[in-house]
Amino acid sequence: MARATIGIGANIGDAAATVERAIDALDELGRVIARSSLYRSDPWGKRDQPDFTNAVVRLDTSLAPHALLAALQSIERRLGRVPGEHWGPRAIDLDILLYDDLGFEDEHLRIPHRHLFERAFVLVPLAEIDASFEAWRDALPPSERNTVERIVTRGE
Ligand code: ADP
Ligand code: MG
Repeated sequence: MARATIGIGANIGDAAATVERAIDALDELGRVIARSSLYRSDPWGKRDQPDFTNAVVRLDTSLAPHALLAALQSIERRLGRVPGEHWGPRAIDLDILLYDDLGFEDEHLRIPHRHLFERAFVLVPLAEIDASFEAWRDALPPSERNTVERIVTRGE
């Protein structure tokens, strides 16, 4: 059994609902053992598109890294992702951020994810569920840190 950390993002349609559906789907790949709150983030790279909704999940799974990537892509298709512009709007994006303590790279997969340590939309939710990333989050420049805010849901 491996412990994978998955980054989730969406900015088309009811993005919050799609992220919640993605978390339910991830639970079918093993067992979701922790999940962050939902966060709103400024679109990255290409700015003229809707805000993103982001979350990070920790998953116990027996899938090997490439099988996990294929399973994530299958969930993306099921939840309405269509091939599109790089950095453009997407119904759902599921990325492998970490996989145990693996360091790996080939043409399909790079672990840790290449943007893990530089993007607030990854580090802020990740630090919520794993205190060992708080120092990385706190090292973000304010201009990056301020691109992400926690979504307060009803009942809080
Ligand atoms: P983005 O970089 O915005 O997530 P895509 O979701 O379109 O863009 O992914 C592009 C490619 O990134 C995928 O086809 C996949 O093979 C590759 N990739 C490399 N490393 C990873 C990873 N750790 N998690 C998910 N996809 C990855
Ligand atoms: Mg992706």
